[in-house]
Amino acid sequence: MLKGFRIHMNKQVEILNVPFIHTTHKEFLNEITSPHNHPIHVVTANPEIVMYAKEHPEYMRTIKQSDYIIADGIGIIIASKMINKPLPERIPGFELMDDLLNYSNEHKKRIYLLGAKEHVVRNAQQQIKEKYPNLTIAGYHHGYIDTDNLEVVEEIRQSEADFIFVALGYPKQEEWITRHKAKLNKGVLMGVGGSFDIWAG
Ligand code: UDP
Repeated sequence: MLKGFRIHMNKQVEILNVPFIHTTHKEFLNEITSPHNHPIHVVTANPEIVMYAKEHPEYMRTIKQSDYIIADGIGIIIASKMINKPLPERIPGFELMDDLLNYSNEHKKRIYLLGAKEHVVRNAQQQIKEKYPNLTIAGYHHGYIDTDNLEVVEEIRQSEADFIFVALGYPKQEEWITRHKAKLNKGVLMGVGGSFDIWAG
C-alpha cells in the first residue's frame, strides 16, 4: 500500500439516482485507509437499499450525504452493465469490514462496535479480538438505543476509534451516522447490517 497516496474518487455511476463510486476493492481500501482530516461515512448499498432509497426520498437524501457509496452485491454490477456504465467489481460490506479489521490489526488501529443485542456485540468483539489480537477494541455498545442518544456518541468520540462499525440495520444505521458524524473528530464510519451476528456465531 502506498502511504499517503490519495486516489481522487470522483468518477461515479448513478443507478436509480444512487451515485456509486467507480472503484475496485483494492483501490477503495487504499482510499479509506489513507489519512482524512474529518470523519467519513461509507454506505455499502445492495439492490435492496437502492430500492428502499427510491421509495423513501428522506433515506435517499441521507445516503447522498455520505462520502462514498459502494456496490455491495452482484445485482448492482449487473445493473451498471445494463446501463452501459459498468462498475469494475462488487465490494461486499462484510469483506470490507474484515479487510479493515485486518488493516487495523497490522497497523494497531482502534475500532468501535455499535449495534446488535448486548450479548451479540459482546461475543462479536471477543471473536474479533481473538482473530485480530493487535487491534484495540476502543469500545462497544448494543444497538437498542434512541437515535438521539448523545451519551453513546460522546463515548465513541472519546474512544478515538479509527473505524466505527454501525450494525443497526438499514435505514437506521445510515440515519444514525448522518445525524452524528459531525460530532466526532475522526474515523471511518460504516453501516454493517447483520455483521455482528455473523461474527458472534
Ligand atoms: N439492530 C439494532 N438496533 C435496532 C434494530 C436492529 O442493533 O434498533 C441490529 C440487529 O440486532 C441486527 C442488525 O441490527 O444485529 C441488523 O439487523 P437486520 O438483519 O434487520 O438488518 P440488515 O442486515 O437487513 O440490514
